[in-house]
Amino acid sequence: MKDFRSDTVTLPTPEMKQAIFDAELGDDVYGEDPTVNELERLSAEIFGKEDAVLVSTGTMGNLVSILSHCQRGEQIIIGDKCHIYRAEAGGIASLGGIVPRILKNDDDGTMDLNEIEANIEPKDVHRAPTKVVALENTANVVGGKILSKEYMDSVKQICDKNELKLHIDGARIFNASVALEMPVSELTKSVDSLTFCLSKGLGAPVGSVIVGNKNFINNARKWRKMVGGGMRQAGIIAAAGIIGINNHYAQISKDHKNAKLLSEGLKKFKEITVEEVQTNLVFFSINTEKPGLLAEKLKAKNVLGGNGGNRWRFATHYGIEEQDIKDTINIFEQSIKEL
Ligand SMILES: *Cc1c(COP(=O)(O)O)cnc(C)c1O
Repeated sequence: MKDFRSDTVTLPTPEMKQAIFDAELGDDVYGEDPTVNELERLSAEIFGKEDAVLVSTGTMGNLVSILSHCQRGEQIIIGDKCHIYRAEAGGIASLGGIVPRILKNDDDGTMDLNEIEANIEPKDVHRAPTKVVALENTANVVGGKILSKEYMDSVKQICDKNELKLHIDGARIFNASVALEMPVSELTKSVDSLTFCLSKGLGAPVGSVIVGNKNFINNARKWRKMVGGGMRQAGIIAAAGIIGINNHYAQISKDHKNAKLLSEGLKKFKEITVEEVQTNLVFFSINTEKPGLLAEKLKAKNVLGGNGGNRWRFATHYGIEEQDIKDTINIFEQSIKEL
């Protein structure tokens, strides 16, 4: 099966399995798991931040980060296409009592700087005062788009002026970093907190990590415990994560090359309109009346993708090789002929 549904479908590499097998373990709620401690040290180091904490998922990482920045009845500014708003079951509002102020995400994943500034609520008895702005990098739904360092820095300037924190949902921040040829420490230098996923482009089976300053991470450890994320011998998770981080450049560069190759191949078909590809996510629309039938034909030939309606997403990741891309393009050709 060539499975392009998501970069979350990866299975651990042989090296990861060995590292999981060999991992030194302890009780991480006591701070005694050496492998978790090493993952957190490495994460803080690579991002140039003071500290880091392992969480079970990106969703938990965003929730815990925002709970650490914001009290009940306070406000966060987020984009209308972002994962925090659309794909985390409303956690910040329902569990945290945090009020989302939703601004439009443009096609490049940004929110207009003037709009951000105009929507900051002051401390006032009538208002839900704004405490944090969250950005998503790369921005998934708009097409795996990269937010530049300049843009994030501009948002941070607005945050500083208004005493707000800047959080990055960096589920795929390493994709941005590799595409920009800029280390994550440089790219995210100005941000206050960031969550990244071990379980996407990095290829590990489970886990996400939050980075930030010491105070913030101490606070996040308390919230993590409260939402049930205090894990015990979590070194079995961390062991694979360490390998994912250390090998990220080679894997993600390959994923980006494969995504380009796939998009070039799909452009040949008049039935398909491919969007601009910047990272590992290839979005395209199917200009036929029966996109569902095409999806079925592909599946019968062992090609799976994100193909809900007319706009499809195919993600490249560990386990997808150049030959799989070539085969997939041929399978598209045959399947389109059969429609
Ligand atoms: C995947 C993803 C997350 C986190 O998802 P989990 O499945 O909870 O790990 C967060 N933000 C974005 C943009 C994502 O794509």
